[in-house]
Amino acid sequence: MLVSEVMLQQTQAARVADRYPRFLGDFPTVEVLAAATPAAVMAAWQGLGYNRRAFRLQEAARRIATDGWPAGLEGLEALPGVGPYTAAAVACFALGMGVPALDTNARRVLSRWHGRPLSGAALSTAAHQDLPPAAADWNQAVMDLGAAVCTPRQPACDRCPVAAWCTDPSVYEPPRRQGRFEGSLREARGAVIRHLVSQSSATVEEIAERSGLPADRIGGAVDSLRADRMITATGSDAITLPDGGSA
Ligand code: SF4
Repeated sequence: MLVSEVMLQQTQAARVADRYPRFLGDFPTVEVLAAATPAAVMAAWQGLGYNRRAFRLQEAARRIATDGWPAGLEGLEALPGVGPYTAAAVACFALGMGVPALDTNARRVLSRWHGRPLSGAALSTAAHQDLPPAAADWNQAVMDLGAAVCTPRQPACDRCPVAAWCTDPSVYEPPRRQGRFEGSLREARGAVIRHLVSQSSATVEEIAERSGLPADRIGGAVDSLRADRMITATGSDAITLPDGGSA
């Protein structure tokens, strides 16, 4: 559950669908994922993008392997790479806790029910007011309603099963646009990780030559990845993915 939620944070479901079972095949338990080398985890993650998630997921696995699963929502949110929605989804769907799990679709649906754009504490308060004892069913139903009926621009209110208690179908906040990938730091960071997965170690110049990106951009990406502890120096000018332990 945690693996699929982390994958779905920033990757479309269609792309996750075939990689998720392969990832679980490679790392079937928390303990196996915790003990793997970061290079192996990164190799399995390629194609999903936003590589930082894979490192944080392994950090979370290491913490769980040592301390056990957190008992409550706060403990889940304290795991590396786990935000409020991911924590709530795991808490509700995997651990049976009675908490709302509010993804983008649920946020839009609740905003329309309550007649104003909701976020932060106001969204949480509204959701806790609406949440019935069957929390998992409600969470799933609200998300599905948002995905299939209460869509962003043209909600199908004429066939909506809960139209009777909806206050304002016109409430809509456009999602934040993602910055361009080409020319971004994310593109250069991805090139570095891809290279290190296939070559194990390399210099900035080698990665720049192979990727076709300027050396100064690769250098900036290397600095950024080192700050995130996602790569390490090997003693010369070369860099590599961490061996393990403190990715
Ligand atoms: S009535 Fe329309 S806007 Fe309201 S929840 Fe249903 S589909 Fe969404």
